[in-house]
Amino acid sequence: MAEDEEKFPFDINPMYEGERVRKAGMYVELGGQNKPGFELVLFEPDPEQIKDGEVSLIGPDLEDMEEGGNFAYAMIYKVYGEQIEKDLEAVIERRNHEYQSYIQGYMHLNQRAEIWVRISKEAVKKGLKSLKQIGKATIMLFKAELPFIEKMEATFITDEEEVERRLEEAIRIYEARDVKTRGLHDEDVDEFYQCTLCQSFAPTNVCVVSPDRIALCGAMSWFDSRAAARIDPEGPNAPIPKGECIDPIGGEYTGVNDAAVRLSSGEYDSIKLHSFLEKPHTSCGCFEVAGFYIPEVDGIGWVHRGSKVIDTPIGLPFSTIAGSVGGGKQVKGFLGIGIQYFYSPKFIQYDGGWRRVVWMASDLKARVVEAIPEEMKDKIATEKEVKTIEELREFLQRVDHPVVKGVIRNVDGERITEGWAAAAEAAAKVPPAVVEEGVSSASQVPLTSIPMMASGAGGNSPIRIILKDADISIGKIIVKRKEGKDGRGG
Ligand code: SF4
Repeated sequence: MAEDEEKFPFDINPMYEGERVRKAGMYVELGGQNKPGFELVLFEPDPEQIKDGEVSLIGPDLEDMEEGGNFAYAMIYKVYGEQIEKDLEAVIERRNHEYQSYIQGYMHLNQRAEIWVRISKEAVKKGLKSLKQIGKATIMLFKAELPFIEKMEATFITDEEEVERRLEEAIRIYEARDVKTRGLHDEDVDEFYQCTLCQSFAPTNVCVVSPDRIALCGAMSWFDSRAAARIDPEGPNAPIPKGECIDPIGGEYTGVNDAAVRLSSGEYDSIKLHSFLEKPHTSCGCFEVAGFYIPEVDGIGWVHRGSKVIDTPIGLPFSTIAGSVGGGKQVKGFLGIGIQYFYSPKFIQYDGGWRRVVWMASDLKARVVEAIPEEMKDKIATEKEVKTIEELREFLQRVDHPVVKGVIRNVDGERITEGWAAAAEAAAKVPPAVVEEGVSSASQVPLTSIPMMASGAGGNSPIRIILKDADISIGKIIVKRKEGKDGRGG
């Protein structure tokens, strides 16, 4: 490896994982929000069909790219190995992120058709001239780290039309992988699988992959993880014996809880796989979709990476919400998931499943529309119907969304929320609060207008209010206890 490394004009070291290339220091951007991109690993059963170590490029190379530009980017790898089976394709593909992150001055983020790469000016200055150099280094890393790969060749594409054309095929392959797990459920298996690949940047993250819960990055199904564990039982995708089921609705298992303690170094001791608000699954930073609890309506909203929708009804874009979701933390009120989890029959079932979903980015809703139960399709708002929390409340009342009068959980028929219709009516009757002298204009919002809904299953979870970019100045605040019917009190 050392000999090969000397041929590259860049350093290769795991310490560069997590390195960010900021816009100011960027030579070019590949894929990302504005250009198509994907990565794909394909198993080739005939070793004669692979030119080992070869990298070909279709489209302009780095030297032909204008500095500061954004280009389409596809990385397609063909692999052969006696031990390799088709289920390992996704596992090997997920490692592209890890190994390319070892390359100094090369930032690789996300996976599948969401990839986002930046190459630094510094790397180009040091002699990086061609994407073929990146391809060669990547193959070298794959073969060094995963010795079961006997032969590997890469095709990189920067020609936008060609990327678009091959992307269609890649999406069909991703979908075929995803559909495979839909007939299998958590109760059908004895083992789930861990994934620790992202612990390098989120050390307390505990990724658990089960048949009913695809990895939050969307790149690893239960079958993929099983294939990885077979080939490397002690590796990052080691099995997690399920143990005893403590909560069949939330998806809590003694084996998963033991793994949570072990993998988070004691930070967490329990995880419910199918819960949003209670002991939620942790999220590193790779989630495909970010979910956020909206206390004002006691419901949940979802926006995905790459969404064209800028603002959610809580006034924050994906990037800001993502900051609250990630970091390997168990954050009540936020959750990262893989897109396929929307198709799971256990999708956040502890919190009422689809009956608790009140808002989705329209492009996400369109993408997973088949997963949404018929009776909920028109009850979930998008940015096209509502822009603010107030409009969302009005929408939900108009369509008689379950959160308004209380959510009855489908799976066990239990009422898990009280609904806010009655509370909203009562609040409407309360006279507006008097703004005391000395209170600045920035804070002249009647406090009674901030709905304080009970959150969580059973309505007794703690309420958390997060103020972002808030500018509040208060000269004087008076807290009064309401005593009589007329509201007088000390
Ligand atoms: S997000 Fe989770 S499952 Fe996906 S690569 Fe990272 S640790 Fe593994």
